[in-house]
Amino acid sequence: MTLSDMTYRICTFGCQMNKHDSERVAGLLEESGLCALADDAHDADADVVVYLTCCVREAADKRLFGQVASLKSLPDSAGAPKRRLVAVGGCIGQRDGAALVESFPHIDVVFGTHNIARLPELLAGAHSLSTPQVEVLDGQGTCATDLPSRREHRWHAWVPIMTGCDNFCSYCVVPYVRGRERSRTPDDVLREVTALLGDGVREVTLLGQNVNSYGRDLFGEPRFATLLRQVAGCGVERIRFATSHPKDISDETIAAFAELPAVMPALHLPVQSGSDAVLRAMRRNYTAEHYLGLVRKVREAAARAGKGEVALSTDVIVGFPGESDADFEATMDLMRAVGYAQAFTFIYSRREQTPAARLHDDTPRAVVQERFDRLVALVQQSAWGCNQLECGRVVEVLFEGASKRDARVLAGKSPKNQTVHAPLPPGAAVADFTGEVLPVRIDTARTWYLSGALLNEALADVSADGNADGSA
Ligand code: SF4
Repeated sequence: MTLSDMTYRICTFGCQMNKHDSERVAGLLEESGLCALADDAHDADADVVVYLTCCVREAADKRLFGQVASLKSLPDSAGAPKRRLVAVGGCIGQRDGAALVESFPHIDVVFGTHNIARLPELLAGAHSLSTPQVEVLDGQGTCATDLPSRREHRWHAWVPIMTGCDNFCSYCVVPYVRGRERSRTPDDVLREVTALLGDGVREVTLLGQNVNSYGRDLFGEPRFATLLRQVAGCGVERIRFATSHPKDISDETIAAFAELPAVMPALHLPVQSGSDAVLRAMRRNYTAEHYLGLVRKVREAAARAGKGEVALSTDVIVGFPGESDADFEATMDLMRAVGYAQAFTFIYSRREQTPAARLHDDTPRAVVQERFDRLVALVQQSAWGCNQLECGRVVEVLFEGASKRDARVLAGKSPKNQTVHAPLPPGAAVADFTGEVLPVRIDTARTWYLSGALLNEALADVSADGNADGSA
């Protein structure tokens, strides 16, 4: 069997950058003649398995190693011995390089975060030579931006605007693994966005570990606000971005966020802790008071510009070394004060290369777990409260297809990034709605989703031409 006769499956861990890298890996493999394993096929039947990995938390390391180990003697779905090519990329590929092959000799390819473009050749080499291929460039390369991509959704694209991070938060391995900040030029980003629009994309998510410092390496000062205005000027209907470091979000960026109608009213602003002592130990370079001031500024600017409410989301780490009861209560207070629409909560994970790994950590695990459970309960309550505000309102939903649980229910995203469900009208096909922006009147709000009904004019649009025009 040659490489071009093979099927592949990609397993993605971690952040949105990895999701985007997965689309590029898929594009590269398909350009080399490989086919994606059918959705309903058994994973064990893939001829090539590619892992895009994350090393931010220990649990993801363990999960990856468990999955890779289990592939060694895994038969195909009919129980026959199966020879397959295994490739490991992403942060763990970048971090561990050849050591991965020493631990798992059945790995055929290890590639770094800067060598995605070389994956087809590395797989071909491993296949023809039956020798593992390891290629990991250091973290100072430029962003490879002209690679083919097989997007998950035709109407949405991830657009990386920078890679790496200069912040060195004390718990985080990203700067050591992904390297220092490198921004793409505005021309390069705008060229890609224009091409995507021509390809039917309606929503773009601009990606970077810290988008607020975009351009500092190019111009000596951040120019994210300018880039946002330029991207909006290309005619994109919906713009989102992630991730924003609170110390770097500028007044210009807040103004652009508030004033540009295409920029969706949802802002992910990771706070990590509400305690100044913990924030200092984390080397986050802001205080809780500064953070709350930013939240106020964002909300006031959005209200002034007529954008309305902003759905704020965040990341929080519980159990950072030395976190006291009072520190944790400060986090709870901050969470209540902001009223987040969503929060990603994590128990602190010690990462060997980082300064925080050397901090004394004597909080009993049970205490950390109890804090974590309380935080999760608060997040759920807060998300439910934000969703309740939508009852009775009409929201513009970008439909993504059928709900995972019920093929007769459409699912999509509101401008605030809430999941919205609406019954599929009788006799209609899901495909007629997929990728369309249509108005839905919300009648029920749960913790993690909203339900409602498509408005009549949306149905009229769809039935008039067999497809919605998306201008509702
Ligand atoms: S800002 Fe901090 S947490 Fe985020 S990637 Fe950079 S070092 Fe890691």
